[in-house]
Amino acid sequence: MGKRTAIVTGGTRGIGEEISKQLSKQGYQVVANYASNDERAKQFEQSSGIPVMKWDVSSFEECQKHAAEIQAKYGTVSVLINNAGITRDTTMQRMSYDQWRDVIMTNLDSCFNMSRAVIDGMRGQKFGRIVNIGSVNGQMGQYGQVNYAAAKSGIHGFTKALAQENAKKGITVNAIAPGYVDTDMVRAVPEDVLAKIIQRIPIGRLGKASDIARAVLFLTADDAEFITGATLTINGGQYMTS
Ligand code: NDP
Repeated sequence: MGKRTAIVTGGTRGIGEEISKQLSKQGYQVVANYASNDERAKQFEQSSGIPVMKWDVSSFEECQKHAAEIQAKYGTVSVLINNAGITRDTTMQRMSYDQWRDVIMTNLDSCFNMSRAVIDGMRGQKFGRIVNIGSVNGQMGQYGQVNYAAAKSGIHGFTKALAQENAKKGITVNAIAPGYVDTDMVRAVPEDVLAKIIQRIPIGRLGKASDIARAVLFLTADDAEFITGATLTINGGQYMTS
């Protein structure tokens, strides 16, 4: 049997980069998706040997097209990691419709777009692992993030509904809700705000991309078949103290 196929959206940097590399080490044929940062994607592809593919996960059509291409080239997708995400932070009274819509479409519509593209194949082979990357801010809400909190909170509901629909087909659907992880996304948070956030994390540091990737490996393992509809909360204890 050839390698099993995995797609990681936003798989070329940050948390996704580490997930792509770890799944590849486990023997998956990984395809790492990205949106626009060609240079970064090229560097990633050259250093890791993992093929990259550019498309916008907020577009239903692009997701169907590229998922079909991947399945034609590498075979049925066994693992889908819905990781791509963006922030457009500002308070609701200042938020434009585009800031709202971009975040909902990139972070939440993408989960539907991608899962819809691979679910028939997974059901056909009676095996699949879908992991959706939510956020502690989808669980708690966050000042300046009505768009992001709504999208991430939506991911948690999406996960539980899709898990039920596919539980008898060998497919598990789970979510991970990371706390603050040291990536470009968090580096964009003002320093004083970040310092206050770190004070609230009992473990006393930001998360690392590898802290999240190791949970992805746990949830995608063949013998993780009894874990479905779960949200794994990984935040250094922040959720307990906020
Ligand atoms: P980064 O900003 O470091 O990386 C984002 C990745 O997503 C990039 O590869 C980017 O591609 C890709 N991407 C963005 N928009 C699209 C799109 N429309 N189509 C395809 N790919 C896209 O993010 P993180 O690694 O920090 O975050 C990864 C996930 O984890 C996100 O869903 C985020 O919300 C979530 N998360 C992150 C936390 C954190 O503290 N960092 C905390 C909780 C959740 P490109 O390089 O081309 O821009």
